Amino acid sequence: MKPFEYAIPETLQETFDFLAAPQSELKAGGIDLIDLMKEGLAQPRRLVNIRGLQELHFVKGDAATGLRLGPNLTLAEVAGHAALRESYRALAQAADAAATPQIRHVATLGGNLCQRPRCWYFRSSAFPCARKGGDQCYAVDGENQYHAIFGNDSGCVIVHPSATAVALMALGARLKIASAKAERELAIDAFFVSPETDITRENVLKPEEVITEVMLPPAARGFTSFYFKQKEKQAFDWPIAEVAVALTLAGGVCKDAKVVLGAAAPIPWRVPRAEALLKNQPISVKLAKQAAQEALKDANPLSENAYKVPVFKAAIYRTICRAAGIDPFA
Ligand SMILES: Cc1cc2nc3c(=O)[nH]c(=O)nc-3n(C[C@H](O)[C@H](O)[C@H](O)COP(=O)(O)OP(=O)(O)OC[C@H]3O[C@@H](n4cnc5c(N)ncnc54)[C@H](O)[C@@H]3O)c2cc1C
Ligand code: SF4
Repeated sequence: MKPFEYAIPETLQETFDFLAAPQSELKAGGIDLIDLMKEGLAQPRRLVNIRGLQELHFVKGDAATGLRLGPNLTLAEVAGHAALRESYRALAQAADAAATPQIRHVATLGGNLCQRPRCWYFRSSAFPCARKGGDQCYAVDGENQYHAIFGNDSGCVIVHPSATAVALMALGARLKIASAKAERELAIDAFFVSPETDITRENVLKPEEVITEVMLPPAARGFTSFYFKQKEKQAFDWPIAEVAVALTLAGGVCKDAKVVLGAAAPIPWRVPRAEALLKNQPISVKLAKQAAQEALKDANPLSENAYKVPVFKAAIYRTICRAAGIDPFA
């Protein structure tokens, strides 16, 4: 690991001041960043540790007006928060399913959204791949069993690693992003960057910017959600498929639907074809299965990951059923 300066800001303003120096990087829980530094993949000259910054650690509002979450909440806090479990269930479930109990007590919501991909070629300094500025993707013709089945035709076939991103996209979240000079808000859909746009980055954050708030819209009457993660084994594991579904139901009829897939594509992947099929229909097991079929129509598996297609079909239909409160096995 290269030597670096270590700064501990006491306010958000001080954070911006520390970030102004070139090659400064934020550290929250440090679960991802310290790993990358050990491997030599991140080499900040200054580490700005915001882990203890209370200004970024809060839950404000309520389900009627919308909840506002500080990015410094740990995954364990998100998973255990009563209002989230009640009204934005998919997010609490996603946070609860990520990593291990020890990691969830340290890792933060902001860091989870901004973590870098888990592609094993990316994580090893031995492979100077396209995402690191090289000229080839080692996974596309290599070991790609955990890689993308959608959006994988632009030179990098990672899957986006963040569980909370999948849930937040289904829930229609927005992010507040600030720097010393400006503040902006954007829908979380606009936060993630596909390889087609820029192969070297996963999101639109500029080096001087900080996520300062994650905003959840009001949970209207009939709004319900569910998140499901399929792993290879029951004990801790990364997902081979994850699905978040948010529905607005009126008398059993679906008025609005969002279906988002994780471990599927380089960005959290919405499936509008499945959403369209659900809208203005009473949710049933049969309809959920049709939506799952529809969702996978555009899948384009790589040499080693065609197994993901049936796994996603099962995961999607079950998650739609669970969100709607019906038994997927009835
Ligand atoms: C064994 C293991 C299993 C895991 N399994 C899962 C899993 O199943 N699902 C899953 O989703 N994740 C999983 N993870 C990843 C883990 O959840 C993330 O690494 C963690 O959430 C990162 O959060 P952090 O606070 O430690 O971020 P850090 O490592 O501190 O930071 C990560 C990045 O986020 C940036 N950042 C942090 N906060 C902000 C902010 N407020 N504004 C702007 N940028 C910010 C940092 O600059 C850095 O670039 C796993 C990790 C491990 C080690
Ligand atoms: S999938 Fe992306 S990160 Fe992995 S080797 Fe290919 S270019 Fe690199």
